[in-house]
Amino acid sequence: MEPRKKITEIEVESWRDIPGQQNSTLDAMAIPSKRRIYTIKGKTTEAERMHEIGHIVKGHSDREPYKAENFVREEIEAHLYAYQRLGKPKSILLKLRAIFNDLTHNYRISPPKAKALLRRNIMQPNVPKQWKLDYYKLEKEYRKVFG
Ligand SMILES: [Zn+2]
Repeated sequence: MEPRKKITEIEVESWRDIPGQQNSTLDAMAIPSKRRIYTIKGKTTEAERMHEIGHIVKGHSDREPYKAENFVREEIEAHLYAYQRLGKPKSILLKLRAIFNDLTHNYRISPPKAKALLRRNIMQPNVPKQWKLDYYKLEKEYRKVFG
């Protein structure tokens, strides 16, 4: 087996220092083709840092996937990578909400389809029980909003 190439971490003061970013909600970013991650001083958590490393190790591409299915799969894969190493994030509710919003706004997927995509990825044997409970919480919330 070839030795794994090193992953470089660049810690910046603000998301504004991450090249090409206009997104103030960004906490960290990976550029898998360069095996490089950006983290924000005092903001990026250990779990988020490991999530970005997960995107590199799992061989994800630099751009957000064209297909919504792949976007959800890659996000959950990166979260699982962090969880398997750190036991974090314990709760994934905020992350699930963020994925749901990306699906309905950026990918223009209908709310029921977005829920179905999340459900399929979360109801896997290797996903922690708490994340499944988080998913049910989200489903309950959105049932009130979208019916
Ligand atoms: Zn990610």
